[in-house]
Amino acid sequence: MRLKQIKLAGFKSFVDPTTVPFPGNLCAVLGPNGCGKSNVIDAVRWVMGESSAKNLRGESMTDVIFNGSSRRKPVGLCTVELVFENTEGRIGGEYAKYAELAIKRQVTREAQSTYFLNGTKCRRKDITDIFLGTGLGPRSYAIIEQGMISRLIESRPEELRVFLEEAASISKYKERRRETENR
Ligand code: ATP
Ligand code: MG
Repeated sequence: MRLKQIKLAGFKSFVDPTTVPFPGNLCAVLGPNGCGKSNVIDAVRWVMGESSAKNLRGESMTDVIFNGSSRRKPVGLCTVELVFENTEGRIGGEYAKYAELAIKRQVTREAQSTYFLNGTKCRRKDITDIFLGTGLGPRSYAIIEQGMISRLIESRPEELRVFLEEAASISKYKERRRETENR
């Protein structure tokens, strides 16, 4: 499973449609301060269903939409699409048959979020479900950001356990049990 590219439009500083390709197994994003490197990572987290504005370095969920600059007017909608290579079927279940998986999220100024899986409208839960147990997800250890190592070291045992359960691929079963118990 590999992230092949990210397409952004209207997301934070990426007002014009932009494609960020990841051509190899090891890629680096370089650029001067404020050029939008962290915005790319925020975009990855956002598409995977992040629902906390704070975790996206904003105050409200619509802060991810381009809010204008000295030369450009704000826009009313933002879209981000992640394209994953899935030739080994790591993204399992009914999606294992797809060699490529595109997940997309769109949001309007009215805070209306819409999700798509390979072009078909889906629920947020459909997106979060496919990444459960893969180590990837909005709050997974696949994204190591500034301050996270010290947060891990200082975390309480029950917080640390969440990371270990994801690494051991058991979080998806716990999630399913929770759902069944709530029915
Ligand atoms: P550093 O090297 O300092 O970490 P960076 O490359 O990670 O910088 P980012 O934090 O990704 O930079 O980008 C910050 C820029 O994104 C700022 O100029 C900020 O104004 C812009 N930005 C963030 N949200 C929006 C938005 N909603 N609309 C327009 N611009 C935005
Ligand atoms: Mg940064």
